[in-house]
Amino acid sequence: MSEMKYKVVTSKSTHGKGDAGRTGSWRVERPMIDLGKCTPAKKEKMVCHLCWLYCPDAVVTKEIEPKIDLEYCKGCGICAEECPTKAIKMVEERELAEKGEK
Ligand code: SF4
Ligand code: SF4
Repeated sequence: MSEMKYKVVTSKSTHGKGDAGRTGSWRVERPMIDLGKCTPAKKEKMVCHLCWLYCPDAVVTKEIEPKIDLEYCKGCGICAEECPTKAIKMVEERELAEKGEK
């Protein structure tokens, strides 16, 4: 029996931090990570990182303690939606400004 080989051609776009400009200025809500609920931080293992995977602006680091570059985070909230442990909370920038937090 002869073996059939398939060649699959797909389109792919790759994104990078800052490709859409300084998107941090668009932000109305800021994602804040509670490391006490974040699986890699709790287990000290390179696991999960769904926030890194799903962030459309590639601004979350893939580290034991994930970090978000607020210069480019547009506050879309996808990371908070995808986080399986609900470790990411979206907080209003206005609320943070009133508390004097940068
Ligand atoms: S998705 Fe949530 S639990 Fe997973 S690495 Fe990100 S913050 Fe941590
Ligand atoms: S809110 Fe989360 S998913 Fe959206 S740009 Fe910021 S870090 Fe990325």
